[in-house]
Amino acid sequence: MTLTEDSQNHGKALSGQVALVTGGSRGIGAEIAKELARHGATVVINYVSNEERANEVVRDIQAFHTNVMAIKSDVSNPEDVRRLYDEVLNAYGKLDILVNNAGITRDSRFVKMTEQDWNDVIATNLSSVFHLTKLFLPKMIEQNYGRIINIASIIGQAGGFGQANYAATKAGMVGFTKSLALETARYNVTVNCVAPGYIFTDMVAVVSEKVQEKVISKIPMGRFGKADEVAKAVRFLAVDGDYITGETLSVNGGMYM
Ligand code: NAP
Repeated sequence: MTLTEDSQNHGKALSGQVALVTGGSRGIGAEIAKELARHGATVVINYVSNEERANEVVRDIQAFHTNVMAIKSDVSNPEDVRRLYDEVLNAYGKLDILVNNAGITRDSRFVKMTEQDWNDVIATNLSSVFHLTKLFLPKMIEQNYGRIINIASIIGQAGGFGQANYAATKAGMVGFTKSLALETARYNVTVNCVAPGYIFTDMVAVVSEKVQEKVISKIPMGRFGKADEVAKAVRFLAVDGDYITGETLSVNGGMYM
């Protein structure tokens, strides 16, 4: 970072902090990465396959004059997570904010759901949270500071037709968050969830128009959420959530209360 860049970041709430956003190449993760960078954080975005989109996010973030890098790593694979951890620590020596955002769906009615559908979703959405947190938490405890923010879902709170696997991971995240929060509070490491409702990203765009209309009719605010509206909630927890832990903050336009 140059001196000019450093002075531009000076005074921003997250300057000096390092954040990792898994699944930061698209959708909600990309907006979270930009929002944290806009507030001064050095940001590492992780992705699994979409190098081009990851590079676009890197270019966008460079405009905020913060340090940024993209690391390809499959968070469902513990060895890949270990490499991601090593790369982050080699580059920056610490991590202050871990946003467990990477996630997939493999929807089907339970009677048709395969063991592969189940295992893929558990590994990507939930076991990844175990492996990433396991590695980064000791560093946070050591520095007596950390913010772990898990991106859950309205589906984990209310259930979803054809989403038994996905709902299990998102509800699992909430239980994980509350339990870990109890253990880490004394080290000034907060652990929270943000639970989005229906946010218009690639994940929702694949759903048929008919189903999209049906969903919108059930949202009191009458529209899908935007990825940056979720990002603002994450930034709130990272910047102003000092005394908030074990909580799930819903960002769903009133769809589930
Ligand atoms: P998205 O647009 O489909 O993007 C998914 C992101 O996760 C991409 O960056 C993708 O990387 C990454 N990813 C997928 N599998 C990965 C893996 N094995 N290792 C590393 N990265 C991986 O999803 P989204 O809608 O932004 O959702 C983000 C999070 O919010 C997810 O956890 C999702 O469950 C949750 N959520 C979304 C909604 C919604 O309505 N959109 C609602 C509630 C909760 P590549 O680009 O390389 O593929």
